[in-house]
Amino acid sequence: MEIRNVKGTHDIFGEDSRIYGYIYDNFVAFASSYNAKHIIIPVIEQSDLFQRGVGEASDVVRKEMYTFLDKGNRSITLRPEFTAGIVRSFIQNKMYATMDLPIKLYYCGPVFRYERPQAGRYRQFEQLGVEFLGSDSEMVDVETISLAYNFLKSIGLGEIVVFKINSLGDEETRDNYRLALKEYFKEHLENMCNDCKNRYELNPLRILDCKVEDDKKYIVNAPKINDFYSSNSKIRFEKTLRALDILKIPYVVDNTLVRGLDYYSETVYEIHFKDEDIGALGAGGHYSNLIEELGGPKLSGVGFSFGIERLLSLFKDKNPYYKQVIEQEQIVYIMPIGEESVLKGMEIASKLREEYIPCEMCFDNVKFGAMFKKANRLHASYALIIGEEEIKNDTYKIKDLESATQIEVSGEQLIDKIKQLFFHL
Ligand code: AMP
Repeated sequence: MEIRNVKGTHDIFGEDSRIYGYIYDNFVAFASSYNAKHIIIPVIEQSDLFQRGVGEASDVVRKEMYTFLDKGNRSITLRPEFTAGIVRSFIQNKMYATMDLPIKLYYCGPVFRYERPQAGRYRQFEQLGVEFLGSDSEMVDVETISLAYNFLKSIGLGEIVVFKINSLGDEETRDNYRLALKEYFKEHLENMCNDCKNRYELNPLRILDCKVEDDKKYIVNAPKINDFYSSNSKIRFEKTLRALDILKIPYVVDNTLVRGLDYYSETVYEIHFKDEDIGALGAGGHYSNLIEELGGPKLSGVGFSFGIERLLSLFKDKNPYYKQVIEQEQIVYIMPIGEESVLKGMEIASKLREEYIPCEMCFDNVKFGAMFKKANRLHASYALIIGEEEIKNDTYKIKDLESATQIEVSGEQLIDKIKQLFFHL
């Protein structure tokens, strides 16, 4: 019987994996321009990390974690997000013991959530993002937002996204706001869903994120957090928005935005497609207590995470340059006829690859016509023709497949000539 993939997982290959590479390369280029360094952390962590880090009240911890006992009876969880693991590493490896905070890190890899699979929602998906750890400055929050925006611009999505931004304020703000929410929801609670009843006890802010249609009528009229800001939080948020204005980052303030993970404080944001609700493309925010809660010093951090699958599908649907990105991959297609030519072709291919020139050789015993067709299907930029004559004269034909022009080059000059053509030297 055929073995299929696990429900909620998927393979990324062909065109999609090329777009994935393009997205990833641009992200790394932008993260590096903010002096962020790559961090690679384990996929498995002790379950406690997420229970304490992400928060018992979050849907992720309550319902969505892949948790199991390993053979040593330890409770292990497949990471449902990166922030808690990166903060653990920051603490464990004493990265904070430097005068040069914040430490800026970027990451990419799979995360796991036991959610109901649907369009744009998987059980294993890929995230890429950053964490800037160890500074409380609101300008570091702004740097992460500008990184996210510049990265989106670089992949042609800058014009079609909007940043929804809110401030959850400091401890004092949220204490007062929670009391007000409890007071307000007290009389509606018996008509609301069971999740909301739980949230009321654990973290009433989470009620604002309820997706149940019947509950929304109560949520719209709930008190708004901006009426509860402490003076520090108010000033901080104003400074943040002013910096975004100066950097010309398109945003809207959304006072109902609370985020699904419990560790956030002060500025939080989500990045959405402007024209249609396809779920957040990415999200992030500031956290003042997480590092301390996980056993580290009293330092703040800020980070965001994009879901690569959602970026990928938006890229395919909405980026006018999509086909160009896919097709701009150049290769040389080597077309040998006869046994000696195949060996010669192997030798040439190896030399081209040493020069980082991608090439592919035809091993099918077919005529040139069929080989040219295959070269076109592969979007090859050049074809290199090697027949018996060519070997005898040690002179080869390079055909430019776009302009259909052809030149002849001696064996001695061949690699240099292809290099020149390929890299426009
Ligand atoms: P979060 O860690 O929940 O803030 O999510 C960050 C980003 O990951 C979201 O904005 C989505 O792009 C992506 N994401 C979250 N959950 C899923 C999922 N189940 N499937 C695919 N992408 C997801």
